[in-house]
Amino acid sequence: MEVYYATVFFIFGTVLGSFYNVVGYRLPLNQSIITPPSHCPNCGHTLKAYELIPIFSWLFLGRKCSKCKQKISCFYPIFELATGILFMTSYLLFGFSLKLLLVLTVISLLLIIIISDYQTLTIPDEIILFGIIILSIEIFLLNGYNEQFNLLNGFKGLLSSYLNGLIAFVIMLLVKLFGDFVFKKESMGGGDIKLMFIIGMVLGFKESIMVLFLSAFIALPVALIILITKKDHVLPFGPFLSVATIILLLTEFNLQNFLNIFYI
Ligand SMILES: [Zn+2]
Repeated sequence: MEVYYATVFFIFGTVLGSFYNVVGYRLPLNQSIITPPSHCPNCGHTLKAYELIPIFSWLFLGRKCSKCKQKISCFYPIFELATGILFMTSYLLFGFSLKLLLVLTVISLLLIIIISDYQTLTIPDEIILFGIIILSIEIFLLNGYNEQFNLLNGFKGLLSSYLNGLIAFVIMLLVKLFGDFVFKKESMGGGDIKLMFIIGMVLGFKESIMVLFLSAFIALPVALIILITKKDHVLPFGPFLSVATIILLLTEFNLQNFLNIFYI
């Protein structure tokens, strides 16, 4: 049964991954996420149902558009595959629980933010605001529910999570101001600072400092490669913050716990 549910979560993840890609790409450009339907960016050909199956369509259509034969980037299937794996892993770690719902929400928000920040160098306020609202409800329920529901515990948990978010936000703001001073230019976007509020809300402010260190650690080699190979080196920091958050969220700062689910 475990394998059955794990597979369902994987498939569910790949389908959502495909959708998150559309949302992350269109939202910062103020385009509707429903119309027009998914189409080839080269010739505008509207994708038919069989061309919309995550990963498989890309493989079986020979990695190109069925009409104009333009090559389709392998980024799409990789992103869908990664979303599927993240959803499956989350299910294996947390089972059917409120915690699972919270983790999947955070992962979903961060995946949309990765696409958006990578494509347009912005993190839309709508995503941050939408995220804070959904997460507030989930954190309230998660803290309030313990055998029976306690309203006060729910509010206490929510308040503490806002406080953690605020501290993380202020820390990030200070890092940015320091960065601006040292580099004599904008060192970090406003979106990254707002994103840090969400990260602090979910993980706690001490953990969000660890996120900051881990993301800088991951970003460093990438920044060096870009510096060497490209002339313009604008590197969005949001994707690194997001990847670091997902890593720490799933491992819960305990690598062995995480590896256990794969029997390693
Ligand atoms: Zn085409």
